[in-house]
Amino acid sequence: MNTPGFSFRITARRARARAGVLATPHGDILTPAFMPVGTQGTVKAMTTGELEAPPLDARIILGNTYHLYLRPGLEVIAAHGGLHRFAGWSRAILTDSGGYQVFSLATLNKIDRDGVTFRSHIDGSEHRLTPERSMEIQGVLGSDIAMAFDQCPPGECGPGDHEEAMERTTRWAERCLAARRPAGQALFGIVQGGPDAARRRAHMAEIVGLGDFDGYALGGFSVGEPLTVMYELLDEIASELPEERPRYLMGVGTPADLIHAARAGIDLFDCVMPTRHARNGQLFTSQGTVVISHARHRSDTSPLDPECPCETCRTVSRAYLRHLFTAREILYSRLATLHNLTFYARTMAGLRAELNGIEARP
Ligand SMILES: [Zn+2]
Repeated sequence: MNTPGFSFRITARRARARAGVLATPHGDILTPAFMPVGTQGTVKAMTTGELEAPPLDARIILGNTYHLYLRPGLEVIAAHGGLHRFAGWSRAILTDSGGYQVFSLATLNKIDRDGVTFRSHIDGSEHRLTPERSMEIQGVLGSDIAMAFDQCPPGECGPGDHEEAMERTTRWAERCLAARRPAGQALFGIVQGGPDAARRRAHMAEIVGLGDFDGYALGGFSVGEPLTVMYELLDEIASELPEERPRYLMGVGTPADLIHAARAGIDLFDCVMPTRHARNGQLFTSQGTVVISHARHRSDTSPLDPECPCETCRTVSRAYLRHLFTAREILYSRLATLHNLTFYARTMAGLRAELNGIEARP
C-alpha cells in the first residue's frame, strides 16, 4: 500500500479466496474481516470495551461522514483531535465519503459536475459536498481509511444512469486522490457500474487506472438486485480487483453473503444488518435465524445459541431475551447486539481459520 503506516500481507489463498493481515496505524486487522457500523460515532448499544473484548474482538469500525458532519459537527470532533478520541476508540476506523447518505437520506437539491448540494434530513439546512470537502471532513474525523467520494445510483436505474454515475465517480475519485490528506490516512477507491459485468469491468479499469489507491471497494451492491445476480457478479469480478490490495464489499450483507463474497476474493465487509436486526428481534445463530418475539421461545430455558461463547449466550436464556424484547427493556438491545456481532465475528474467524489451514477456535 502507498500510504506510510499501512501494509497488506496475504497469508493464505484457497482458489479465489485469501486470508491476510491489513496493518494500520491503529493496529492489525485479520482478513477476511467484518467492520461493525458506528453510524453516529457509536456502534449502537455497544461500549468500546465490549467491541474490543474477545470473542467479538472488532479490530476496525466504520464511521459515517454524512451523519457526523451534520451532528455533532466538525468543530466538536476537531476539539477532541478526531473521531478516535471523541468516541474513545483506539483501534482502526474507516469512514465512508458521505456520498451514499447524501443520495439516500438527504433531500437532494442539485447534483452537478463539481459535487452535490443537499438539505440535511435533520433540520433541512443546506449543505454542499464535493470530493475535496469530503476528504477535508474525513481528514478532521481522522479515520485510518478514507473512502473516495462516489455516486451510488439507485438499484432500479437504467444503463444511462449507471454510466453517468461511473463517469462522475471516476472524475471525483481523481480529485480525491489529488486532495490533501492527513499523514497516516489511507484512501480507497470505489468501483460502481451496477449489475452488468462489462460495465463493472470498464469502471474497475478506470478506477484502478488512476493508480494510487491503497485499496479498492465495490459499491452499489445489495441495492435490490436478486441474490443470484450479486453472487454471479462477485464470482466474476471480485478476484479481478488488484491482487495485492485489500478489497472491500460495501454494505453487504447476511452471513451467507459474506461467506460467498469472501470465497470470491473479498477481504473487508460492513453492514448494518447484525446491529439493526438485533434491535428488531432477528438473531443469527448456528441453527439459523431466530425471531425472538416468537411464542415458542416464551419459556425456553436454553441459550440463544449453544455454540456461541458470547456473554449473552453464556448467561441468559431465550425466554429471558424474549421477555426483555417484549417489555422493550434497554438491556435487550445490548445483549442482542453483542450476540449478533459476535456471530458475524465468528463467521469471519471461521473463514480465516479455514483459509489459513488451522483449527477454528470459538
Ligand atoms: Zn451469543
